[in-house]
Amino acid sequence: MCRPPPSAKTSSPVVSLKEFIVNLPQLREPRNSVNHNRAYAQFVEPEINRHGHLESIGTIFLTNRECPFHCTMCDLWKNTLRETVPAGAIPRQIQTAIEELPPFTSIKLYNSGNFFDAKAIPQSDLPTIAKIVQRYSDCIVENHPKLVSHRCIEFAKQIAPAQLEVAIGLETCHELSLQWLNKGMTLRDFATAVEFLHAAKIETRVFLLLGLPDLTAQASLEWTLRSIEFASSYGVKCFSIIPTRPTMPQVAELVEQGRFELPTASTIESVMDQAIEMGRGRVFIDLWDAPSFFACEHCQSARLDRLNKMNLQQRILPKVQCNFCDARVQR
Ligand code: SF4
Ligand SMILES: [Zn+2]
Repeated sequence: MCRPPPSAKTSSPVVSLKEFIVNLPQLREPRNSVNHNRAYAQFVEPEINRHGHLESIGTIFLTNRECPFHCTMCDLWKNTLRETVPAGAIPRQIQTAIEELPPFTSIKLYNSGNFFDAKAIPQSDLPTIAKIVQRYSDCIVENHPKLVSHRCIEFAKQIAPAQLEVAIGLETCHELSLQWLNKGMTLRDFATAVEFLHAAKIETRVFLLLGLPDLTAQASLEWTLRSIEFASSYGVKCFSIIPTRPTMPQVAELVEQGRFELPTASTIESVMDQAIEMGRGRVFIDLWDAPSFFACEHCQSARLDRLNKMNLQQRILPKVQCNFCDARVQR
């Protein structure tokens, strides 16, 4: 069961959704220079897998057409194209990246959108992609609930014996925030998609935001935990928490106006401690750009190191004590 709402005062979104949507096309520029011959990024990193073992995962960020959804917070469009890539380009990107990376055992194919969006990944390429990824233990792709369909099941069969896992951006179970985020889905859509995937023995993980409009940093933390409970109640066992960064100009503006509380070092550490304690499955805190949230030069690296180890070990480690910032907080 989900816990009760942490604050009854989390009323209507503070900024008109229309205000944002109208401006989104103009805001979606400038883009980075990417081309369909290459994945735009790739790396191998350790991650604890669904069996509780540490393994190496190769993450390949595919270059393809931009996502048709226009989520308010999303800046993934920066590394996308306006047009669909030619057939054969995506398998080539994957193969080239694999050849350039050190060996790894599971693969993430992240495409700044939805893997089962036919305009992003030409569907005629799926059998070829499947042949390439069959050799791995797990293949993780990202996909919107509205694009969950029989295609996922077909691909899961094609990649066997590799296990398919679909990563879904739930972001939050706070319904008003979900509307403000312009996710183009309801909580019911999410639940239906996840149930469909689980019935086909496809694994799932969710992305959750820490930091939402119209919520204090503390309330947002509580909603992140509540969102873990919500997703867990539908059988999700892997949760990736992303501290919201003011990368989009409209979010930065809200922060300036005092209408958006960014996550703090303290809420980032607390959410990880409490999420692990809940025991609902694997929990990861996204540490990309995390130094910006940890301003104290005396303990920044120790705090980030602790969180990184908690990602890898999935247990709560002793808190970092700092005579400088801890003292400031207490005053
Ligand atoms: S569905 Fe995902 S990739 Fe598409 S706009 Fe939303 S957050 Fe970005
Ligand atoms: Zn400090």
